[in-house]
Amino acid sequence: MRSEGGEGADGLLPAILIIEDEENIRFSLSAGLRREGYRVLVAATAEEGLHLARTGDPDLILLDVMLPDASGLEVCRLLRRESRVPIIMVTARDHESDIIGGLEMGADDYVTKPFSLGVLLARIRANLRREDPDGVEIGVLRVGPLVMDPETRAARLHDRPLDLTPRLFALLYYLANNAGAVCTRERILNEVWGYDYLGETRTLDVHIHWLREKLADSPALILETVRGVGYRLLVEDR
Ligand code: CA
Repeated sequence: MRSEGGEGADGLLPAILIIEDEENIRFSLSAGLRREGYRVLVAATAEEGLHLARTGDPDLILLDVMLPDASGLEVCRLLRRESRVPIIMVTARDHESDIIGGLEMGADDYVTKPFSLGVLLARIRANLRREDPDGVEIGVLRVGPLVMDPETRAARLHDRPLDLTPRLFALLYYLANNAGAVCTRERILNEVWGYDYLGETRTLDVHIHWLREKLADSPALILETVRGVGYRLLVEDR
């Protein structure tokens, strides 16, 4: 499992900082992550969490929105000023304003409670991979039934050729490279269309529509709309 997350820059296992005041969640999360081979740091308050984020050199932070001494959103804002460490917000289900607020404060992703450890582990791996400079950015990408080779621009789905325009290839490659994680509209436009993109963001919706048609035959790949935020490619094991 841990090989997918890669090792930290110092050669040690990736360290995850859990900032969560609910003791039972904190306990089961840390036990589950340790079983998967991660190093785990835990904090029960915003203050402890900020301290450990600054001193413990975590590779990723799981940050609860509702903390006793401060909002997780505020903690996220403070952390973003000083670090690019991936932050996954943990929020109650359907608190859409928390989700949007967290992403605006610079969080990379979110999970809603209650969540399964399997879902969380997939998000953690996706977000660690995204930050890994030696990651899968170049080279053949394999995500579920999808295989993409950026050198030849060839894509195969369920072992059949997938015919994509260069832009659709770039869009799918970006989403697949971040599979399981939320990609904001802004980030997609920057990464796929470039920082100088001045066209309408409606262009993105149209390309997503075309991409969904291309993926329609594969139930294992779900291109999900995250309302008000962006898109996420979900990959099921089948
Ligand atoms: Ca809480």
